[in-house]
Amino acid sequence: MNLKICRCNRCGWLGREEEITIPGHCPECQEYEGLEVCGQDMAYTKEELRGLWLLFSDVSIADEDCIEEEYLGFPAGTYRFDVWLWFDVRWPGGVYSLAYEGGEYDAG
Ligand SMILES: [Zn+2]
Repeated sequence: MNLKICRCNRCGWLGREEEITIPGHCPECQEYEGLEVCGQDMAYTKEELRGLWLLFSDVSIADEDCIEEEYLGFPAGTYRFDVWLWFDVRWPGGVYSLAYEGGEYDAG
């Protein structure tokens, strides 16, 4: 099973593809054709990154610390800390802050 994450470019909804009940329509604002599948190369706001992190916690992890389903374009079998690194360079304060401190980081 793959975790496909979609974003609505109109209202900012972010969620699993399964949550889209009417194909092509945002479940939040019903906008048509505003949805895109999230990938690693897209730019994300802080809130979106937080949402992506929460969805990442749903991804099952094998004993060898590899993800068992595709996530954000990372294929199944990717070492989970490679995904952590992806968050680490994007989240202010690093992934540790996101993972263990609720993502609260005061840049001052
Ligand atoms: Zn929307």
